[in-house]
Amino acid sequence: MKMRKGVRFFGVLWLSVIVCSPIAVAGLPADSIARVSDAMRCEGLRSLHAYVLLDRLLRESGARLSGSAGAAKAVALTQTMMQEEGFSSVHAESVMVPRWIRGRVERCTMVLPSGTSRSLSIAALGGSIGTPKRGVAAGVIEVHSFDELARRAEEARGKIVFFNRPMDPTLVNTFAAYGGAVDQRAHGAVAASRFGAVAVLVRSMTLLHDDAPHTGMMSYADSVTKIPAGALSIVAAEALSQQLQLHPDLRVKLALDCATMPDVPSANVVGEIKGWEHPEEVIVVGGHLDSWDKGIGAHDDGAGCMQAIEVLRLFQKAGITPRRTIRAVMFMNEENGVRGGLGYVADHRRASERHIALIESDRGGFVPLGFSVQADSAVVERVRRWSAVLASVGAGAIEQGHAGTDVSPMVETGVPGFGLVPESQRYFDVHHSANDTIDKVNPRELELGAIAEAILCYLLSEEGLN
Ligand SMILES: [Zn+2]
Repeated sequence: MKMRKGVRFFGVLWLSVIVCSPIAVAGLPADSIARVSDAMRCEGLRSLHAYVLLDRLLRESGARLSGSAGAAKAVALTQTMMQEEGFSSVHAESVMVPRWIRGRVERCTMVLPSGTSRSLSIAALGGSIGTPKRGVAAGVIEVHSFDELARRAEEARGKIVFFNRPMDPTLVNTFAAYGGAVDQRAHGAVAASRFGAVAVLVRSMTLLHDDAPHTGMMSYADSVTKIPAGALSIVAAEALSQQLQLHPDLRVKLALDCATMPDVPSANVVGEIKGWEHPEEVIVVGGHLDSWDKGIGAHDDGAGCMQAIEVLRLFQKAGITPRRTIRAVMFMNEENGVRGGLGYVADHRRASERHIALIESDRGGFVPLGFSVQADSAVVERVRRWSAVLASVGAGAIEQGHAGTDVSPMVETGVPGFGLVPESQRYFDVHHSANDTIDKVNPRELELGAIAEAILCYLLSEEGLN
């Protein structure tokens, strides 16, 4: 049955203590937006339930590299979680995913001309081929850009190319610093191989001075010989750089036994609260369920997935049935293929639906500052009118920009995309490394992100973007 107008409240009465205002049981009072956002904030910050969910995901699934046993467990577990919350249409949507295996051997040793050797912390980059069983041993040239590599092309032949340009520490936005350095990781192997190099080492993409290597995706080109690629920890990169200055003829021995296997089946996981007025109109809120394998993907992106589930739970707990369907999507395979994001758009179920907006949280579960809106300027201006409401949880900054990798395939068809933007100073401390564990997650910060997304979902659902 369709209600006359406005929001339908049911069930749960807010018997609040001290700071939280009671919520209306019926109708749409003028201050309903404030009441709903208050209700969501109070329930969220009292329960800190996103953290409870995240802790369970990480304990029961562990690392979730696409195609791994951990990823399969997470697909089953998140369906169970959403069924337990009582969401509608909980199901998995199949996608085929790449399966890259790290293997057991990851060894990098620096050997000085004196014969002294030192072990360097390394992680194979995602997608890399392994070395021959006996490893690769060669001299090293250190470069800081592709231009420098091209100038020194003659020196690269038969060598290991070591890309050592740091993320720019003078930038406040660490994502900008990452964006300014990650070309080395993504394209270094192709560039070095063109000049006859035998392997590539890349300085980890982090601003933290520690000994944990930070992995991530790299790519090959069909026209160029594939060479192995690994990320050195910052401590290892600086040690290698220092010794190269003293001993330019030092050698490095590298052994990796990673490999790419045939694609395997996996899935996106979906659950929703059906809209009472326009059930066919969908607002997606999501993150990616896969993770790198060095840590257990607490911030990247267990946080975003559990926030999405928490968004729907906050609607339920606040007693709100939205006008439009709010759907939580756990996308698979963001890290090394985006098959989940691509598969979501291509799935036959989309034919009878109309997407209003997609929200992604994939920048860590840190204190939210606002949203990055991937849409035309008119939409951005429209969303800016909601700044004051979102600012009630600190997330009032609205900027035009990238929404998120998983939602990109649909956003590129013209549907507005939103990326939750949290504070960024600590994200690359943990990103793609063994540091990405639950102890780095602050339950209140994680929850505030979920509340911000829930408020945005509510505004999108009730007011639309027109
Ligand atoms: Zn991510």
